[in-house]
Amino acid sequence: MPSRKFADGEVVMGRWPGSVLYYEVQVTSYDDVAHLYTVKYKDGTELALKESDIRSQSSFKHRKSQSSSSSPSRRSSSRSRSRSPGRPAKGRRRSASQSREHKDDKKKTIQETNLALLVLVLFKPSENNTKRYNGEPESTEKNATSCIILEQKLKPDLEIKRVLEQYSLRSRKDEKKKEEIYSEKKTFVAVKPVEKVPTKTKELEFGGRIGTFMLIFLLPATVFYLLLMCKQDDPSLLNLPPLPALESLWDGRVFGVCLLWFFLQAVFYLLPVGKVVEGLPLSSGRKLQYRINGFYAFILTAAAIGVLLYFQFELHYLYDHFMQFAVSAAVFSMALSIYLYVRSLKAPEEELAPGGNSGYFIYDFFTGHELNPRIGNFDLKYFCELRPGLMGWVVINLAMLLAEMKIHNLSVPSLSMILVNSFQLLYVVDALWNEEAVLTTMDITHDGFGFMLAFGDLVWVPFVYSLQAFYLVGHPTTITWPVAAAITVLNCIGYYIFRSANSQKNNFRRNPADPKLANLKFIPTATGKGLLVTGWWGFVRHPNYLGDIIMALAWSLPCGFNHILPYFYVIYFICLLVHREARDEHHCKQKYGLAWERYCQRVPYRIFPYIY
Ligand code: NDP
Repeated sequence: MPSRKFADGEVVMGRWPGSVLYYEVQVTSYDDVAHLYTVKYKDGTELALKESDIRSQSSFKHRKSQSSSSSPSRRSSSRSRSRSPGRPAKGRRRSASQSREHKDDKKKTIQETNLALLVLVLFKPSENNTKRYNGEPESTEKNATSCIILEQKLKPDLEIKRVLEQYSLRSRKDEKKKEEIYSEKKTFVAVKPVEKVPTKTKELEFGGRIGTFMLIFLLPATVFYLLLMCKQDDPSLLNLPPLPALESLWDGRVFGVCLLWFFLQAVFYLLPVGKVVEGLPLSSGRKLQYRINGFYAFILTAAAIGVLLYFQFELHYLYDHFMQFAVSAAVFSMALSIYLYVRSLKAPEEELAPGGNSGYFIYDFFTGHELNPRIGNFDLKYFCELRPGLMGWVVINLAMLLAEMKIHNLSVPSLSMILVNSFQLLYVVDALWNEEAVLTTMDITHDGFGFMLAFGDLVWVPFVYSLQAFYLVGHPTTITWPVAAAITVLNCIGYYIFRSANSQKNNFRRNPADPKLANLKFIPTATGKGLLVTGWWGFVRHPNYLGDIIMALAWSLPCGFNHILPYFYVIYFICLLVHREARDEHHCKQKYGLAWERYCQRVPYRIFPYIY
């Protein structure tokens, strides 16, 4: 087992996450399971850092003195030396030239200050760690990142300007005059860390306030329209269904079953089985803990359903009251969204979602104001992402299968129904088996928990994603074995792309030094994270979406070609993922700037190779 390099209490230089700046920090503890040091910055912030993000003060100072002679850019810059973290403390005598130099410094801009800091703290002669690709730095070693970034900083003004924009560094003239940016009392430059507190959401998505307002009505209306259509003998688009009587939509017993289901899943979630893992660092640097026991919950759920079936419980009750179940789930998700919004009003600023903090009620209500709402250790968003809705989808599919057998008096389900059930079961089991991967998705890291996710997880997923099975009950479709085999192959191809792409990225994000990923190349970014440019992520920019869309097609094909309704899922899903991809690109461009542009040049297609 590798031993720790820095002792508790030791004063070292720690990199500020998401930046290339090093500050003086004190080691307070070490987690030898996660191999992370807890360090305390001078402003009191405590963060967990990897060993590679920490340097000893002595090596730091040593590099500084080396740098003045080993690099032309540094040799000429005595200013840089005076701005290093190792500069003399107040009280030490200064030479006349040093005083003059300091006076001159005051006239310089803060950009220069920060860049000088970067030059000094990041110089590390490890150029042989880097490789070149098309003239751009590309690396298979994470440690080379800092050096490469340094090279970028030393390029002409335009490059410097871009870097400054990326880190939101402002020129001194933008600051209040009296503000002391560079204090002699300190042993390091007190640049206020960026990214610490989320700012207001300025760029509104989903059509802004009007768009989100309309979606709050449009999404439930779409679900009810689809379900009503599916019940019709002829579900052609132009054959609009008659509206049901209002009182037929509500049944207290059905609502009770929904509540029971939700709380049963909550109990399974709370069981102390399965490992506890840390999520990605929040903007404050803190990491939340999550229990990974979704797969166990699924086994327990399957056992509970098995017991119900053994005691002759008629599961097709779900089919008979399908619309009422959808209405109950929608009412529940709306109540949950209101609760989430009300509680988010009291949440501290740093716990608000980067994308749901616009200050507009309707927008924040829809997109989710609070990033990770928790009741104690119970994480509401994480729980809803994979449990009640996703497992509910599987149970609904099973109910449809049993309903088909009962209604059509079959001894075995139809081949189409078996395919739809098996493919979607595989998808859900995969999601639960790889539950940890959800922690790196946009839903968890970027989107708040509001109506969009509450309705999506608890209503849209179980009631719209089961549309093919629901359709097959009322519209039996016969397919031949060769057709079934071809559809199965298509689903397997989609699944393989989806799974391997997601695993590749997830493993890389969790441990870039993983030996299994040693053959992959990546573009380093200023945040310290890399962007994979070989493997699946070098094929298209969202290979996981490609695999998901191929699977979506395979789920619809068993329903034949009589109606477009069962293809709603694949059509909607393409729209969803194209939109999601655009959102993600936008966020990545903001996060990674130049590096993302390079990645896009290297991997020109977004989802579909040679098409889009
Ligand atoms: P992704 O899992 O695709 O994650 C996108 C993030 O990956 C980016 O923000 C970036 O985050 C990182 N990334 C992007 N490019 C690279 C690269 N080259 N190298 C390394 N990291 C990179 O996003 P989603 O959350 O949208 O999707 C997760 C899965 O869920 C997908 O398989 C998707 O198909 C599926 N999904 C399914 C839905 C459904 O309803 N069935 C709905 C939505 C998604 P960073 O750099 O910050 O790590």
